[in-house]
Order: sequence, then structure tokens, then C-alpha cells
Amino acid sequence: MTKLYITATPIGNLEDISLRALRILKEVDFILCEDTRVTKKLLNKYEIKTPTISYHSFSGKIKTDKILELLEEEKDLALVSDAGTPTISDPGFQLVSQVRKKFGEKVEILPIPGASALSSALSVSGLPSDTFIFYGFLPHKKGKQSIINEILESKRTSVFYESPHRVLKTLKMIQELSIKNESNPKHSVGQGKEIVIARELTKMFEQVVAGNIGKVSEYFENNPDKVKGEFVIIISGN
Ligand code: SAM
Repeated sequence: MTKLYITATPIGNLEDISLRALRILKEVDFILCEDTRVTKKLLNKYEIKTPTISYHSFSGKIKTDKILELLEEEKDLALVSDAGTPTISDPGFQLVSQVRKKFGEKVEILPIPGASALSSALSVSGLPSDTFIFYGFLPHKKGKQSIINEILESKRTSVFYESPHRVLKTLKMIQELSIKNESNPKHSVGQGKEIVIARELTKMFEQVVAGNIGKVSEYFENNPDKVKGEFVIIISGN
């Protein structure tokens, strides 16, 4: 049966890839990459010569049709993103849905599990993760404040991705809204809510900063050299 493998790749350290993922990437006919240049670094390290095709959020119908044609010709494909698990705040879910609709059981869609910034950050957070809410990237402007309020009122651990350009602004907004809402009984922990910032996981400048909102915001404000790289923000439930 023809196969489409949704394949996780490392989020930094190139050793964080499974033996199965490496075998699949060698064996498939084509690798669909979010950015072929990024994936080439991984492929070169493991001497994988499989041809690559670009597939990203701006890939239109022509590209998708070409991929569907390849599956029609019984070519096996692996989908990878730049880092981590494809489709988790990354392109790919529409492709999975289209392949399932078009081919039904004729094409097997299989996960090749591995790294994700989401699970990696949660695993070192020290916060309950038996149940949590993942927000992906927060909206840049409209709606951001109401989501942060929702997070501050939540009983569950909340997780989201953030870019280095917005992290200080976001921390400030969290701090301001938690002060503003301190009298709100739903914010039972108020400013004492715990926040964990997991930065550059598995990379050279990997760092996890945890504490109350005021302390963590202050740390990043006073250390602009640490406001770099990739961030996951985790906030405790009430
Ligand atoms: N699909 C990916 C996954 O499974 O982790 C996430 C892709 S999303 C476009 C990229 C975001 O993930 C970054 O902006 C950052 O918030 C987070 N991220 C990725 N790698 C990370 C790392 N090494 N450390 C911390 N956060 C990371």
C-alpha cells in the first residue's frame, strides 16, 4: 500500500531523531519539506540522498495536486517541517485531510513520532500536564488580550509558542492583566501564578526560566541577550 509518513524531525539537536525516521527518510521516493534548505542540513548529516519537494503554508492547489498525483502513482512520501512534528503549528493538516478524502484506505497515513517543542517544554516545566491547553501562536493583536485573560482564569496548564520579537510585550501584557484582575476571584493565584519559559531547547543556549510572572518578566527585561531564539511559554492553572 502507498504510504504518507508524517515524520517528526529534531527541534535543534540533530541527534534527536529516531532510527525509524532515518530509515523512512531513506526509503521513501520523495520528502515533502517546509523548507528544503533547512531539511537538507539534516539529510546531509545522515547521508540521505532522497529527492525533496517543497511543501509549505503557501503551497497552492497546483503543488497539492502534484503531490496527490505522486501518491496516485504509488510513490511513498514523507512530510517533514523545519523542526519538530509536522502539523503542530506547522503546515500539513490540509494535506492529510485531502489525502484521506481522495484515497481513503488506499493510502496509509502514518505518524513517525519524535520531537516537538510542545511536549519537550512541558516535560521540563514541572507543571501538571495530565491535562493542558495548547494555543499554538497567540494572535498578534486582535484577540490576544482575551486569550491571555482566558489563560489567567484557566484551571489547566496553558502552553503557547512565542517569537523573540514579541516575548517581552507578551510577558508585560500577562503581568498587567494579572495585576488588573487580582481582585477577580477566578484569578485565585493572581500574580503568584507560575510561568515557565523554555528557550532554545536542545540547542547550545538552551534555558528554562521558571517563577512568578513578575520575577520572570523582570529577568528577561534585565537580560536582553536572553531574548533570542525560540520560546515556549507555559502558565500554571489556578
Ligand atoms: N511543529 C513544531 C513542533 O512540533 O515543535 C513547532 C513549529 S512552530 C512553527 C515553531 C515554534 O515552536 C517556535 O516559534 C517556538 O515557539 C517553538 N520551538 C521550536 N523549536 C523550539 C526550541 N528548540 N525551543 C523552544 N521552542 C521551540
